[in-house]
Amino acid sequence: MAAIVLSVYAWGKFNDLPSTDSLIVSEAAAILAGITIVASVVAYIAPIKKVLSASLAIYGLLLLMVIWLIMETGAVHSPFIALWMLSAAFAGLYGWVMVGPLGFLVIGYIVISVVSDGQLDQNDNLPALIIGGLLPLGLGMLIWYRNPTVERVKVKLAEANTTELHKVTNQSEIVINAIGDGVLAIDSQGIVRLINPAAQTIIGWSGKDAVTLDYKAVLQLATDDGQEIPMHLDPILQGLNTNQQYRTSDISILTSSGKRLLISIVVSPIGDPGDGVIVTFRDVTKEKAEEREQAEFISTASHEMRTPVASIEGYLGLALNPATAQIDDKARSYIEKAHEATQHLGRLFQDLLDISKSEDGRLTSNPQLIDVAKFTDDIIMGLKPQADQKGIHLGFKPSSKGASEKQLHPVYHISQDKDHLREVISNLTENAIKYTHTGEVLIDVTGDDGEVVISVKDSGIGIPAEDIPHLFQKFYRVDNSDTREINGTGLGLYLCRRLVESMNGRIWVESQYKSGSTFFVAIPRLTRAEADKLASEQPAEPQSAPEAAKQPAFEPQAPPPPPPTLSEIEQNPELYRQQMTQSHPRGRPAGGPIIRPRE
Ligand code: ADP
Repeated sequence: MAAIVLSVYAWGKFNDLPSTDSLIVSEAAAILAGITIVASVVAYIAPIKKVLSASLAIYGLLLLMVIWLIMETGAVHSPFIALWMLSAAFAGLYGWVMVGPLGFLVIGYIVISVVSDGQLDQNDNLPALIIGGLLPLGLGMLIWYRNPTVERVKVKLAEANTTELHKVTNQSEIVINAIGDGVLAIDSQGIVRLINPAAQTIIGWSGKDAVTLDYKAVLQLATDDGQEIPMHLDPILQGLNTNQQYRTSDISILTSSGKRLLISIVVSPIGDPGDGVIVTFRDVTKEKAEEREQAEFISTASHEMRTPVASIEGYLGLALNPATAQIDDKARSYIEKAHEATQHLGRLFQDLLDISKSEDGRLTSNPQLIDVAKFTDDIIMGLKPQADQKGIHLGFKPSSKGASEKQLHPVYHISQDKDHLREVISNLTENAIKYTHTGEVLIDVTGDDGEVVISVKDSGIGIPAEDIPHLFQKFYRVDNSDTREINGTGLGLYLCRRLVESMNGRIWVESQYKSGSTFFVAIPRLTRAEADKLASEQPAEPQSAPEAAKQPAFEPQAPPPPPPTLSEIEQNPELYRQQMTQSHPRGRPAGGPIIRPRE
């Protein structure tokens, strides 16, 4: 259009038309036409980021040129009215933003013309004027607005708005499609919005069937034993409701062909709360089966090896016992080392057995009412000799405002398996003693209405910051000059974590390298009413093992049952292990074995 105007201008100049001719284009209009042409060409060639704004500006220039020309060449009588009709028809491309103001401009102009005398003459047909002014706008709106082609153009314009975004969008689609894990995008209403090819292969749904369906129809989640998943365990629902990341590997899905697969799933919220979640999952059925086989093997092997090791430990104990054997000092020092190593091996097998039990669900729990402060105190008393031997002060100081020794124990009740809790507390305390050369180990019990927190603080070697995140993993041991000389299996803290998790509790550590560490265990606390109710239901208990263990320090003890004889042990080496286990929950003998000589 601008080119037509420029041509008409040139034609007028060439033919030397009189300036009164209605077809004469003024210099101002010609300059505007020139600017419009240059701007269009530049916008077309140059890599402009804001294409939409540029196109709007150029369209504005065009309109300005057309209106200018019309006003200069006789307003409603101008021969260039046709240019208005042509250019106004494109206003619909930009929607009401452009059509609205232009409509008002046309109506305003007509109204002013009617009101002020002399603007319109008798021959002017008012309806034709209105139609000529407004019809192209209306038609343009009809043609362009909400027209799929225009929508596409708009999308194209928006995409072209930033070439980078365009590239990234393409790349992420390629990446999502190439990911081996299943990926689903689920909106705030739980509707599947995207499903990548890997997810389609795993669950057996095609993309076009799954998209727009409720996620529960597409991803039929179940517990790992195939039961329908309760709402509070549904990670997707949790992710949608709480806008937090959820991950679990104890879950399965039912594929479209009815096959059950164990999966590992991560649900990550996107954008603002309630915007939706991205779900990534993968089939871990094979890995889990392999893990189970591995655990079974470890469990069987540890069980089988524990018996001969107990027997070796027993014989070495006998060799070290002056009542059963006479050996010289050199032999004694060798046998003591062998005895120590056997004890370590025995501990390792015991830990492996406990862990495989906790991993394959064989760990049974027998919850009982526990007064945590008192229970902890009993365990600490049992471990005092171990600390004394190293010259470490072992203190138990439950936080309380009370003054007397009795009142020092605040009452924190929980309902948990006593053996499991004992295992955790003694393990942490034994570690604290083991990894402290001088100083003290302090145990505290604190809490609030919801939790009881047991803390074990030591002034020992501390843990380097980079090791802390891995500390509760299986077989993890800090490897540095401080720990190299200290024996261990790297299984104790892992077992503690498993046990604490089975109590719905938390375990964590705060440590300063070379200054000491504090391990914390938080366990859900019972209310007073719940504790009273449990106490009335629970039968009165015989004295607990640790209580019996601490008795020798204060009162004369009833004689223990006679220990097994050597020949009894020879026939059944497990007797030795049983005797040791009675004096320590994890079968860790504190000193030399007490075995009666062969009769
Ligand atoms: P281990 O049998 O080696 O003691 P654990 O699982 O009990 O196995 O502990 C894992 C590692 O954590 C240990 O090897 C040790 O490096 C570190 N650790 C545990 N408790 C303490 C502590 N109280 N102070 C310093 N380091 C500790």
